[in-house]
Amino acid sequence: MAKYIFVTGGVTSSLGKGIIAASLAKLLQARGFTVTIQKFDPYINVDPGTLNPYEHGECYVTEDGAETDLDLGHYERFLSIHTTQANNVTTGRIYQTVINKERAGDFLGKTVQVVPHITDEIKRRMQLLGKEGKYDIVITEIGGTVGDIESLPFIEAVRQLQWELPDEDVAVVHLTLIPYLRAAKELKTKPTQHSVKMLSETGVHPDVIVCRTEEPLNNDIKRKIALFCNVKQDAVIEAMDASTIYEVPLLMLREKLDLICMKKLNITEFKEPELDKWKAYLDKLKYPKSKVTVGLIGKYIELQDAYKSILESFIHAGAMNEVKVQVVNVHSEFITKENVAEKLEGLDGLLVAPGFGHRGIEGKIIAVQYAREQGLPFFGICLGMQMAVIEFARNILGHPHAHSTEMDANTPDPVINMMEEQKKITMMGGTMRLGSYGCEIKKDTLAHKIYGELHITERHRHRYEFNNAYLEQFESNGMVASGKNNETGLVEIVELPNHPFFIGVQYHPELKSSVEHPAPLFVSFIAAAKKYNETKGQLIASLLKKETV
Ligand code: GLN
Repeated sequence: MAKYIFVTGGVTSSLGKGIIAASLAKLLQARGFTVTIQKFDPYINVDPGTLNPYEHGECYVTEDGAETDLDLGHYERFLSIHTTQANNVTTGRIYQTVINKERAGDFLGKTVQVVPHITDEIKRRMQLLGKEGKYDIVITEIGGTVGDIESLPFIEAVRQLQWELPDEDVAVVHLTLIPYLRAAKELKTKPTQHSVKMLSETGVHPDVIVCRTEEPLNNDIKRKIALFCNVKQDAVIEAMDASTIYEVPLLMLREKLDLICMKKLNITEFKEPELDKWKAYLDKLKYPKSKVTVGLIGKYIELQDAYKSILESFIHAGAMNEVKVQVVNVHSEFITKENVAEKLEGLDGLLVAPGFGHRGIEGKIIAVQYAREQGLPFFGICLGMQMAVIEFARNILGHPHAHSTEMDANTPDPVINMMEEQKKITMMGGTMRLGSYGCEIKKDTLAHKIYGELHITERHRHRYEFNNAYLEQFESNGMVASGKNNETGLVEIVELPNHPFFIGVQYHPELKSSVEHPAPLFVSFIAAAKKYNETKGQLIASLLKKETV
């Protein structure tokens, strides 16, 4: 049977509960335990798949095709594990299950209530992975902030589990903020006291208090927090702001977060943490040898979380190439034929991002054309790949009105078309082509060189696809379909062999990039950007030399 660690948050949102939970999991994994993390979110959407990225950041897709919270991305990147549908549960999903049961007559004669029916369903799901027998420890992050009306049933479920399960099987970590008042030159503990008080009023008592802080906590402060929050002084630990999220496991190791939790869980046998690979990665990340600049062309660029997995994949790939990847966000809505050269000036590579709907489409197509014509490394993901196909159809195949039927239902040249099985679907939630599918790679192509194998699997999230009626035209004019799904014939990868690096993929390679296994496409794209940067440098140097001669 697994042991359970619950991570709650107080004072404000955005304190980085996901990173603390993932860091704790990493440390426990490094000490030899099998660990998984799950997130319970208090909103009513059944999953975040129907949420706009502006609302909730990126929607992270698991192998089994669940549309989930972006924190699951952190869990996978830190732990190199696969999460599933069971790792992300929302209030909506809980209610849906309970209401379906009620309709089926499972509670016949009874009044269905938040307590016990909703809380029972929460508890059942909280223990689902733990009961599989695969994990020593299951960490559960409770979304939202303690005190929110909507997180109350989740906190109540934690309380009941704390009461039902043996004492040594449950630990609660509470993450709070200790604000620093610059004018008073003081760290303030009152918000933390209040949030722990609120948590305690619901009957849940934290075993560890992790304090996000900009300034180190001295012993007096720790003692004060311990005293007023009723925890041992060594269970009050600081989480200082870190230069990168990948440093947090080491900060938590120094603060003994893993040891304190293991003590509470009465785990007495463990090894020294094996973190050599992690430290080597961190070293490369912190001390890059050079820099490349890549453009991220998207329409949600105001919000960093909208492209979280892409940004993290750049970080992994940068470390592999020993370069710092500077990402320049370029809003596709404002790219025009007239300003494209100026907007993309100085870039060593271009990534056209995934997305949905009309907005910013023409700007993306113009950016692809610029990269294709200038020999600038190009990488298109999902909608980005579709834009590369449209651009090629318009400017090389001579179909000026070529489009995707997503943006123009009446286009004379629907080079991107809705997938056949999607045409009969009317419901929006969880109905795209989602999750892991196979892709067969053509020999001796760029894709083959990048992956080093002929069969791969990657994750998907789309409704539209390359229209195979045009395949012959594309291939005879120089755009190769270098990856396909064998069962459906769906084009997964397109590339231009006569370009230094031009590749578009229908899937999302960013969803499988982790610290220990960076996504090959990102690693190669950054290598191509590095080469572009170096040769550009040489070109400028030789031009300067010529001028001075
Ligand atoms: N909107 C496109 C489709 O549904 C691309 C989706 C994406 O970029 N994730 O096919």
